[in-house]
Amino acid sequence: MSPPALELWGVKKRFGGIRAVDGVSLSVARGETVAIIGPNGAGKSTLFGLISGELRPSAGTIAMEGRDVARVAPERRARLGLGRTFQSARLFGGLTVRENIQAALVASGRGDGDVRGALREVSLEGPERPAGSLAQGERKRLELAMVLAGEPRLLLLDEPTAGMGQQERVAIMELIVGAVERRGLTMVFTEHDMDTVFAHAKRIVVMDRGRPIADGPPEAVREDARVREVYLGGGSSAR
Ligand code: ADP
Ligand code: MG
Repeated sequence: MSPPALELWGVKKRFGGIRAVDGVSLSVARGETVAIIGPNGAGKSTLFGLISGELRPSAGTIAMEGRDVARVAPERRARLGLGRTFQSARLFGGLTVRENIQAALVASGRGDGDVRGALREVSLEGPERPAGSLAQGERKRLELAMVLAGEPRLLLLDEPTAGMGQQERVAIMELIVGAVERRGLTMVFTEHDMDTVFAHAKRIVVMDRGRPIADGPPEAVREDARVREVYLGGGSSAR
C-alpha cells in the first residue's frame, strides 16, 4: 500500500506564550479532499505554514508520501510535490499576469511551460495586465494558476474563496475541484463559508485552540456536539 499523502504526529507550534498549534495528528490519504475549519485563531494558517515548511514545528513530525519533511526547506517540499496558496494571495504585483506564471514555471524548473494553458485552466484573461491591478478574485485565480504550474501532488489552499461574493466563490471552487479531479491531486483547504465546505469536502477536520476536536464526514461533523458548541452554534461568528 502506498503511504498517505500527508501525515502529522503530535505537531505543535508556540509563538512565545501562544500555543497556536497544540498537538495535531492527522493522516490524509492520496486523492482525499479535506477541509480544515475552525474559529479565527484556531491555528489553521499556522498549521499550513508548518506543513509547507515556512514554520518549524516546536514539536512533532510531518511526512509527505512517507518521507519525513519536518526539517526540509519549503522550496524542497515544493519540489517534493507540495503546492500552497496563502490566505492573502502572494503575487509579484509589479509583474504582469504572464510574467507571474512564467516566474512560477521557472521556479519549478519548467521554464518552457505553457503560460496560456495555465491561465485557461483558471479562466483568467488579460495576461499583459499588471498583477497589482487585479481584483481580489482574479488574484486568487492567478495564485492558483501559479501553484498548479508547479505540478503539485498535494495542494494546500488557505481560504481560496476569501473576500469573494457567493457567485465568485462557487466559480472558483468549481475550477479548483475540476483541476484536482483532472490531475488526481490530494487537497487540504481552509474555508469560512460553510456552504462551500459542505459542498466540496468529503472530510472535515474542526480545529479549536490549536487542536482537532472533530474529524470525519460532513454529516457526522455537522451533528457533533462539541463542534456545535464551539463553532457552528456557539454564537461566535463563523470564523
Ligand atoms: P487561523 O488561521 O485559524 O485563524 P492562525 O494560525 O492564523 O489561526 O493563528 C493561530 C494563533 O496563533 C492566533 O492566536 C494568532 O494570533 C497566533 N499567531 C499566528 N501567527 C503568529 C506569529 N507569527 N506570531 C505570533 N502569533 C501568531
Ligand atoms: Mg487563517
